[in-house]
Amino acid sequence: MRRKLAAGNWKMNGSRAALAEVEALCAAHPDSAVELLLCPPATLVAPMADARGSHPLRVGGQDCHSSESGAHTGDISAAMLKEAGASHVIVGHSERRTDHGETSETVAAKAAAAHAAGLVAVICLGETLAEREAGTTLAVVADQLGASLPEGATAANTVVAYEPVWAIGTGKVPTLEQIAEVHEYLRKELATHLPDAADGIRLLYGGSVKASNAADIFSVRDVDGALVGGASLRAEDFSPIVSALE
Ligand code: PGA
Repeated sequence: MRRKLAAGNWKMNGSRAALAEVEALCAAHPDSAVELLLCPPATLVAPMADARGSHPLRVGGQDCHSSESGAHTGDISAAMLKEAGASHVIVGHSERRTDHGETSETVAAKAAAAHAAGLVAVICLGETLAEREAGTTLAVVADQLGASLPEGATAANTVVAYEPVWAIGTGKVPTLEQIAEVHEYLRKELATHLPDAADGIRLLYGGSVKASNAADIFSVRDVDGALVGGASLRAEDFSPIVSALE
């Protein structure tokens, strides 16, 4: 009952020329059972929304401010993303948590702002290598989940992405058992916070997903799709990942 979701995070990559990749991706999956989402840099949200034409590809931002408007130089609001054609926004990516000092409380405020503007919040969380080695992974992700979920989160407005920090951009991937353990645990934790929504909220895995490991990762129970960085930039890399979910 949870529709599979293949999400791409372009990070600080891409250009108008790269929108040819979006056209190729749409052409390769004209009528997909999988929900497709690409999150380009903010400057490309509107051009990407145009480039998809009538394809149901979703476009998302990579971050938003927790306020509606005001004196926040360099930031953008959820409503601005929405007006540009976004339906989703990533919040709490580990690169934001690390580079910009975002706490789970900040992330919850951003997710609430996303919801208020009518966007789906893709809430990211995951342990560092030190936390994994210290055996605290489940405690860390439970804390992050509990503190990052805003009031009013539902299956329709919230997606959770489990992204072990040590797996992002490194080519290292947890074992299928490790992914299964965390996803099962997150599903149970969701049920304690949101008993009515937990079954419907999509749980994505992210961190070095590529064509060669996608099918294995998607075979894990409670993995409802992926949040893909590097392998989402080119249609020839992302399309086989989408196909593995179809
Ligand atoms: P990666 O990034 O696929 O390049 O590891 C994933 C992410 O940061 O969302």
